This record gives sequence, structure tokens and C-alpha cells, in this order.
Amino acid sequence: MTTIVWLRDDLRIADNPALRAAVDRGSDVIPVYLLDEVSPGIRPLGGASRWWLHQSLADLGARLADLGSPLVLRRGAAATVIPELVAETGADAVMWNRRYGGAEREIDTALKASLREEGVVAESHAASLLFEPWTIRTGSGTPYSVFTPFWRACRAEPAPREPLAAPREITGPAARVASDDLDSWELEPTRPDWAGGLRESWTPGEESAAGRLLAFLDDDLGDYDDGRDTPSADVTSRLSPHLRFGEISPHQIWHEAIHRSGSAKFLSELGWREFAWHVLFHFPDLATKNWRSEFDAFPWPPLDDDALAAWQQGRTGYPMVDAGMRELWHTGIMHNRVRMIVASFLMKNLLIDWREGEQWFWDTLVDADTAANAFNWQWVAGSGADAAPYFRVFNPELQAKKFDPQGAYITHWVPEYASDSLTPPAEPIVDLGESRRAALAAYDRVKRAP
Ligand code: FAD
Repeated sequence: MTTIVWLRDDLRIADNPALRAAVDRGSDVIPVYLLDEVSPGIRPLGGASRWWLHQSLADLGARLADLGSPLVLRRGAAATVIPELVAETGADAVMWNRRYGGAEREIDTALKASLREEGVVAESHAASLLFEPWTIRTGSGTPYSVFTPFWRACRAEPAPREPLAAPREITGPAARVASDDLDSWELEPTRPDWAGGLRESWTPGEESAAGRLLAFLDDDLGDYDDGRDTPSADVTSRLSPHLRFGEISPHQIWHEAIHRSGSAKFLSELGWREFAWHVLFHFPDLATKNWRSEFDAFPWPPLDDDALAAWQQGRTGYPMVDAGMRELWHTGIMHNRVRMIVASFLMKNLLIDWREGEQWFWDTLVDADTAANAFNWQWVAGSGADAAPYFRVFNPELQAKKFDPQGAYITHWVPEYASDSLTPPAEPIVDLGESRRAALAAYDRVKRAP
């Protein structure tokens, strides 16, 4: 017997239900990763995610080879490549962990049906969410649209299952299966190589993720509730890119954290991740369409390319916004509080459509996540599920006073804003009061929408 394990957003060996099931079958196991840049609906990865994926695959490949079965890399659509691999290797089973995006589900469902028609065992497993999206419903059977009752309903469910142990060894196929060379995928930037800041900031991979979790729980959990909104405090877990690529599972985090005192707030943030994915499951167009359709009436002015570029490059003249955008460009991450501030500024001071911001984050964040990114952009826009009301416009100057009172975060990322700097800071590109009034006037159209 030979089982193909098709790995996707689950680049780990421990707590990997599909891999575990394949090993437990007692068969030879061929782990495979496909780079699918052709299937309709598959969103191409952003630049920062491509960089991360390269490192993560290199790490996973080495670990799988050590355990006995090297990772096979192939390029193309699963609908073609998986059946080809089945024929090539004589595999009698294919297993994978579920994905929840619309296009991905269509691909997986069709593949499962066609494999089964050919007499191949095809099995999907639950791995990346604590609760399957179709299991959490309101009393009247509809999906939740508000977080608090959603999370209450989740917490009333039986506890998420315990993490599965990593296999100690994996029997590979008798004959070597041909694999692409990872470098030939050109996932890493070369000309120019802009990934220096990412390399300085991150170590992708399963081992690094597990170490991060323990370091966070031991050193920072106690300060999390009070410090999580202070960008310079560095007390959040920084697990988001590891979770995005499935180098760690929410089950592993849950069971490691649940018995520690003071973990409720942190675990409820994992709850927001669940909520974003459940919303996406029920509304697959979350990255392109307003979840609340009355926002379709919002009169976005023609795109101001210069203003968008100033925002992207951290040249708006507002220190908190510029610091956040430069942190993002340099490290591939941005503190959550600052994400809210820069998103509000783009939409409600520059009057630029949230989809432009979502796209920029998609390209530059190492944790760019199909659900969480779109969900949170719509949350700040006011158009999303359980969203902040539109008229809540974050004032970047007041936010800086409140959350960066000593200016530690700002001067780290934009030293020219330090009081003793010789470089004059940029002039503000927009007046906060006037632009806010214009945004609220534009929002009147949404309020009047039928
Ligand atoms: P912690 O505070 O340690 O939280 C633990 C985990 O909970 C995170 O790793 C993450 O998986 C989850 N989480 C925390 N907050 C949220 C949230 N608001 N929504 C969903 N999950 C959450 N998060 C992403 O993972 N990917 C994105 O693409 C993304 N885009 C965002 C865009 C905007 C405009 C905003 C306002 C937020 C976005 N977030 C996104 C949510 C949040 O900013 C990050 O999850 C968080 O900053 C990651 O840092 P951390 O791992 O230290 O978080």
C-alpha cells in the first residue's frame, strides 16, 4: 500500500492528522507539496508569503527526509498532478487536511470524487481550525455574525481534540519519486533581494514555531492582557505566520495554553482567527465583496495613486502610520493596533477603497491569511461581520499618544520623527479633520442605502 499525503497549509509533522492517518495505515507514505499557479480562483501568494513558503518547505523537506520519506515537489493543478502521481507511484490512497476557502473546497471536492471513482481511497481531515465551520450555528441554524456569542458557542462545545504525536519514522516508497528542485520555483526574491529584513526577523519552520509558543507562554503571557495594545512592548506571540502556514496547529496552542493562568484573552484571539475562517467559509468572496452589501453604495472617489504610494511607503507625514508601514515593509509584520490605525487612515482619511489596502497587506505580510486579512480589513471598514462602526475613525495622533506615549515604536521605525533628528519629517499629506468630515459625508450614502 502507498499513501500520498498532499500537504498544503499544514507544513508540520506533529499534529498532522492526514500524515498521521497515512502512517497509521501501515503503508508507504509519499508527502507531496504542489505549487498551483494555474487553477481558477486560487489567489497567487504575495511576495512575503512566497519567501516564507520557501523557507518552510526547505525545513519540512529536511525533516521528512530524516524521518524516511523525502518531500516531493510538483508544480501544477491538483486535478491533473495528483492523478498523475497516483498512476506513477501506484498509490492506493490520497490524504489531506481540509482547506476552507471557496475555490480550494471546489478543487478538493472534485478531486475526492474523481479519485474515488477510480477506486482510490481519498480522505480529508480536520487540522487547521478548532471547530469545523458547519458545526457552530445559532439556535436558528444560521452562522454567527457576532463574535461574542460565536465564541461562547465554541466554548460550549467539547474541548478541541488533543494534538497528535509526530510519527517517529515514515516509510518512503521503494523507488524514488521525482521532485522539482525548490530553488527552481523561484519563491525567493533575487533581483532585487528585498528579503533581508524578513531573514533578520523570522525563522520559519515547525521547530521555531514550537519554540516561539513556549517562549511566549513562559515570558510574555503574564503581560499580554495589559501590553498587547502597546506596539513597542513586544508581548504578543508572533505566531501568526507560523499558524498561517500550519507550522503549528491551533490545537497545539490550545492545549499548551489552556492550563496557564491568564490565557483566556490570548485564546480568545485564536477565537477571532476561527471566527474569520467561519465567516469566510460562509461568504467565500470576503476579500473582494462587502460582507454588508449596503456598503456597495459607498462612493469611493477615483483612486489617488500618489496617496496610495505614500501610504505604502510610509510617507504620509503621520508618524504612527509611517512607522507601521515601514515596520511592515521591513519585517513582513505589523502590530495589530497599528494595523487598525493604518487601515482606518487609508480608508477614512485618504478615502481609498479597503480592497487596495487588503491587496497591499496580502503582498507584504508574512502572515497574509485568506480569511484573517480580508475579515479584518472589512472589520475596520465597517462593512464586515461584527465590524467597528464606520464612524469610528482612528485619529493617528491620538492613537500615538495613547499607545506609544514615549514614541519608542515611532522613533524605532521612523527616526526622522525623533525630536533631535536632523532630517525634517514629511509634511502631512492630508488634513485629519477635513478628510474625516469628507469620509463621514460619503458614508451618508451607505446609511441611506435601501
Ligand atoms: P497574538 O496577539 O499573539 O494572537 C494570537 C493569534 O491569534 C495570532 O497569531 C492570530 O492567529 C490570531 N489573531 C489575533 N488577532 C486576530 C484578529 N484580529 N483576527 C484574526 N486572528 C487574530 N492576522 C493574520 O493572521 N493574518 C492577516 O493577514 C491579518 N491581517 C490583518 C489586517 C488588518 C487590517 C488587521 C487590523 C488585522 C489583521 N490580522 C491578521 C490580525 C492581527 O493583526 C494579527 O493576527 C496579529 O497582529 C498577529 O500577531 P500575533 O501572532 O503576535 O498575535
